Amino acid sequence: MSSEDLAVDLKARVQALLDEHDPATTDPREFLGAQYDAGLAWVHLPHGFGGLDLPRKAQETVDAQLAAAGAPVGGTAKNFIGMGMAAPTIAAFGTDDQKRKFLRPLFTGEQVYCQLFSEPGAGSDLAGVATRAVRDGDDWIVNGQKVWTSMAQHAQMAILVARTDPTVPKHAGLTYFLCDMTQPGVEVRPLRQITGEAEFNEVFLTDARVPDANRLGPVGGGWRVATTTLNNERVAIGTRAGTPREGGMIGQVARVWRDEPGLRNPGMHDELMRLWVDTEVLRLAGERLRQQAQAGQPGPEGAGMKVAFARLAQAISGFDIELHAESGLQYDDWTMRRTEVVDLIGREPGYRYLRARGNSIEGGTSEILRNTISERILGLPGEHRVDKDVAWKDLDR
Ligand SMILES: Cc1cc2nc3c(=O)[nH]c(=O)nc-3n(C[C@H](O)[C@H](O)[C@H](O)COP(=O)(O)OP(=O)(O)OC[C@H]3O[C@@H](n4cnc5c(N)ncnc54)[C@H](O)[C@@H]3O)c2cc1C
Repeated sequence: MSSEDLAVDLKARVQALLDEHDPATTDPREFLGAQYDAGLAWVHLPHGFGGLDLPRKAQETVDAQLAAAGAPVGGTAKNFIGMGMAAPTIAAFGTDDQKRKFLRPLFTGEQVYCQLFSEPGAGSDLAGVATRAVRDGDDWIVNGQKVWTSMAQHAQMAILVARTDPTVPKHAGLTYFLCDMTQPGVEVRPLRQITGEAEFNEVFLTDARVPDANRLGPVGGGWRVATTTLNNERVAIGTRAGTPREGGMIGQVARVWRDEPGLRNPGMHDELMRLWVDTEVLRLAGERLRQQAQAGQPGPEGAGMKVAFARLAQAISGFDIELHAESGLQYDDWTMRRTEVVDLIGREPGYRYLRARGNSIEGGTSEILRNTISERILGLPGEHRVDKDVAWKDLDR
């Protein structure tokens, strides 16, 4: 089919979906289910798994047409871990049965995901995780503690990295699972952040059961699967799809600058210009990266975007505080647990400033990502590693 014929065919499919399920009157979950069944959720995936075997780029046409018709967005706001990280990993490593079982409820938002990766002793050094999964018939029994788990309070499912073989070097003894968060062996406790909110949690796993049918990739192959998740995470955090010029945080600051000239100080104009230009460069670089990623899974390039995003978010939110002078850091709403996900951009400058501190930690710290850039992109010599060939159980912890 020529690309023109393809575009016409796709438009007709989207129109048929909209005709049969008017977004104004259809329950959002039902609409998203119908979108998935029509192969319009992730058009690059095969028929029967929410796709039509088309190039990834075709999704942009679909999404634009659906947005113009006021259709709901796949995954819902709570499921950014599901959509941005779990879905591409399931698509890359899942069996047909796993894709059939997990992708549809993820897309409709019926199953919200969280990420059970970090532990008290394994954050930057993710390959050091100590949570154990031991085989028991058709199941695995999981024991351990995870930490900083965003969205665990809302999640029905989790992507989980656990140690299945402590007798081999750390990277080789990991396995990747999809874990049911609603079972009795999973306890979620809130962790309050500097903003006053508890977006994330500690998660205690005590004899939690995961069917072997929920294992993603081979036993001992978890590191490779996790790397796919992390690369997608960095692209998802570092490049916000569809952000327009002067969107996001810089848009808020520019609006205040224009509307409230009394707040301006000498010298701030140059700084605002610099931040504005840096934001635009990052936005355009993000577009390019997303187009490159359309050819396949994202690689380590997302690390650069994520480092730049964190630096800018912190610089812009700092500028915003300076602009608002003494009232900048104040805000009243310290609700610890919310039922909905906070719209960061819509919050007060003080909240944005404090929340942005976490941007250089979540999804990999800026220091670790600089290491990734130096080793994996620039080809510079790696850090000296003394634990590469030692069984995990023999490492000092
Ligand atoms: C808002 C937020 C949300 C999060 N959500 C999740 C989530 O949903 N799921 C999840 O699993 N995790 C989550 N995390 C955890 C996050 O991935 C970890 O905090 C991060 O990987 C760092 O690990 P750590 O906190 O253990 O710090 P550490 O690894 O102990 O690092 C401490 C410091 O040492 C530096 N450092 C460590 N090793 C090196 C090195 N080799 N070279 C140079 N510097 C180094 C680090 O850069 C850092 O500054 C979240 C974190 C935040 C802030």
